[in-house]
Amino acid sequence: MTEVLKADVLASTELFRFDNSYARLPERFFAKLPPTPVAKPRLVRMNAALAGELGIDPGHLASPAGVRVLAGNAIAAGSDPIATAYAGHQFGGFSPQLGDGRAILLGEVIGRDGIRRDIQLKGSGPTPFSRRGDGRAALGPVLREYILSEAFAALGIPTTRSLAAVLTGEAVARETSLPGAVLTRVAQSHIRVGTFQYFAAKGDFEGVKTLADHVIARHYPEARAASNPYRAMLDLVMAKQAALIAQWLLVGFIHGVMNTDNMSIAGETIDYGPCAFMDGFDPGQVYSSIDEGGRYAYGNQPRIAQWNLARLAETLLPLLDDDQDAALGQAQAAIDGFGGMFDKAYTAGFRRKLGLRMDEAGDLALGQGLLTVMAANKADFTLTFRGLCEAAAGPDHESALRGQFADRAAIDAWLASWRQRLAREGSDISVLQAMMRAANPAFIPRNHRVEAALAAALDGDFVPFETLLAVLAKPFQDQPEFADFMSPPRPDEVVRATFCGT
Ligand code: AMP
Ligand code: MG
Repeated sequence: MTEVLKADVLASTELFRFDNSYARLPERFFAKLPPTPVAKPRLVRMNAALAGELGIDPGHLASPAGVRVLAGNAIAAGSDPIATAYAGHQFGGFSPQLGDGRAILLGEVIGRDGIRRDIQLKGSGPTPFSRRGDGRAALGPVLREYILSEAFAALGIPTTRSLAAVLTGEAVARETSLPGAVLTRVAQSHIRVGTFQYFAAKGDFEGVKTLADHVIARHYPEARAASNPYRAMLDLVMAKQAALIAQWLLVGFIHGVMNTDNMSIAGETIDYGPCAFMDGFDPGQVYSSIDEGGRYAYGNQPRIAQWNLARLAETLLPLLDDDQDAALGQAQAAIDGFGGMFDKAYTAGFRRKLGLRMDEAGDLALGQGLLTVMAANKADFTLTFRGLCEAAAGPDHESALRGQFADRAAIDAWLASWRQRLAREGSDISVLQAMMRAANPAFIPRNHRVEAALAAALDGDFVPFETLLAVLAKPFQDQPEFADFMSPPRPDEVVRATFCGT
């Protein structure tokens, strides 16, 4: 007979100050269940700085009682654990029921900044949404999400965060047997485009309305004062996503699985799977082994975001207007607004990368001109822009940048046009360089570094993982002692494909 392990209740001490607004929504929004305990929890990483921001005592979190909570072996006081329901378009095909198949939302806390955030365990055991999955996560993907999400936070790009990673002491069966782990993820919420689709697909318009009201109260309170609050909410979600995707493109990031269930209503980057930063620039770059058609290629991301948001708009039709045609008109107008929102965010971000403060009509074309030369030369995305910060000091400082280009004439022609434009700014060089260095990171989580850190961790050596996290925590600072981490992979280190690894 197998013994059924049950998480026990830790009522004595207060680890989190929970206030669980999502768990107070109607029952059909989730399944109530605790995480499934694991054999032998062992903390491998705790994010003390993030704990502090959330008003959580890091010492308590790392204590044996805290680690039991992070592993799902104990339920903290005030927790009301749930697995949330959602649907989603995956690679264009609709799945009416996905949901948290391997995650449990423990509850919500209000951080020192006054913002409410979810505390979620990922890899915490089966739920009614698990379908054929085991509800678990392997160590590699857990550490990968940890590295990527914390790198994003340091880059200033909206993202879910990682509070802790715990080894379970159990194996998970994937292509091989791998050590199991649980990630504690922090998000402004886990509400996705697919959450709206879940209710809309059932014809549950009351559910859509309840969800929209929750989203407005939680994320977009400014929409409440608008003449059409649901249209205002839609516009705000779209603006957040447009700004987010612009930031991805401006650092050379490819999400890899932009399914509607992986798009956060709060506008954070979420569900780091087979994502990757580019080394050599190629607008058609795809890494994910499952993205055979290139649907989620680097340069397709704005279009796909708009497509996903059109699916969101569809779910809101009954709320946008009582009259069907008028509702369709509202939805269409909102969707049509995406291009302008994206261009605005992208152009503003590109200007900062090029050191431009004034707003001139040709600026985007200037940036695109550089990308064209980069693509033709497969120039390293990050080193090119970081090299541009050096080049800002004058033509004698171009060698690092020019080294990225086999076609010197092409990059020299571009540099000449950039210098002409820069001359009209009249910026002080040190101010200009400081501005550019704050927009062009030196350090990104390069695929080969991430893979090397995960491989070492699988062998029990967490030093490369810790080192990588430390370097990525200061992406805009020159860190000469870690110059190696700036380098693209050697030919034998190139990572050609990334895997979901779920
Ligand atoms: P993801 O690819 O992580 O975005 O997950 C897509 C869907 O599959 C979500 O509904 C997940 O909860 C579910 N899923 C992924 N991996 C597992 C797993 N190991 N066990 C159960 N459900 C899973
Ligand atoms: Mg997902």
